[in-house]
Amino acid sequence: KELDQTRPVEPALNETNRSAERKKTDPERIHEGQVIVITGAASGIGRASAQLMAEKGAKVVLVDFQQEAGKETLKMIQDNGGEGIFIQADVSMSEDVQNYLNQTIKTYGKIDVLFNNAGVLQIFSRIEDIEEDHFEKIIDVNLKGVFLGMKYALKIMSEQGYGNIINTASTTGIRAEHSLAAYTASKHGVIGLTKAGALEYVKRGIRVNAICPGGVATAITAGVPQQIQETGYTPEEFPNMRIGRFADSEELAAVVSFLASGSSSYMTGSVVLADGGLTL
Ligand code: NAD
Repeated sequence: KELDQTRPVEPALNETNRSAERKKTDPERIHEGQVIVITGAASGIGRASAQLMAEKGAKVVLVDFQQEAGKETLKMIQDNGGEGIFIQADVSMSEDVQNYLNQTIKTYGKIDVLFNNAGVLQIFSRIEDIEEDHFEKIIDVNLKGVFLGMKYALKIMSEQGYGNIINTASTTGIRAEHSLAAYTASKHGVIGLTKAGALEYVKRGIRVNAICPGGVATAITAGVPQQIQETGYTPEEFPNMRIGRFADSEELAAVVSFLASGSSSYMTGSVVLADGGLTL
């Protein structure tokens, strides 16, 4: 009775987050009707997320600069009865980002979810040994790439009155990792952008969240043990996945799918760890 019923509720929030996102759906088809753009979709977490969400009904737009592997992801999805397109793009280039978003609108008419996931790992070294152009490359792909995706998608999503952005940060987004200063800085930045985006766009019915994987067995981590050995990391400094193993990409895809679905409708600005206890 004490609730102020006259307090205005943003129409976008009211209609989109409540009725559209939370409508009852078949659990096997939770992404039915959604158009989901995934960057870094040629490999690893991006590929697994695209496969899972396509299987559960999404039309997926696969973005990556690796053309062969990107098309391979698309074929795997289509062979499984899923629907999507592949667009080659460098996420650190403004024109490419605008192009993949425009192509999505041209093909499917809307963007429900953008999964800003493409990223690169730095060469392990202490700060004094990081080449300036290497630092710039890491920031360009991991941070500017996410910024550009958000900048242009948020404009489209604002016009739609709804949208959902998921950014791939890392456990290095919340704590430092030895010999990974550039990467750590870029991922801290991704979390900053996530929170800023969530704050600025919540009233427009748009959610923005980040995932923080720890160690996932993908192309990016294949050379890590060797590199760690070369830096003279001591075992105590090595990130400890207390669960005792690296994650499979599918274990991250499940988290992405949850954030992309209406099941997470009350979550925005969240930094979601899926790190096997690494940060404990
Ligand atoms: P991955 O190498 O298997 O996949 C990354 C994909 O991004 C590749 O297909 C690559 O071609 C693409 N890519 C890289 N730069 C690009 C660019 N400029 N434009 C377009 N595409 C580009 O690695 P992954 O582990 O699946 O990485 C996905 C994300 O997860 C990255 O942001 C990474 O930083 C993050 N991450 C990974 C781990 C891990 O342990 N694997 C841990 C924490 C965070």
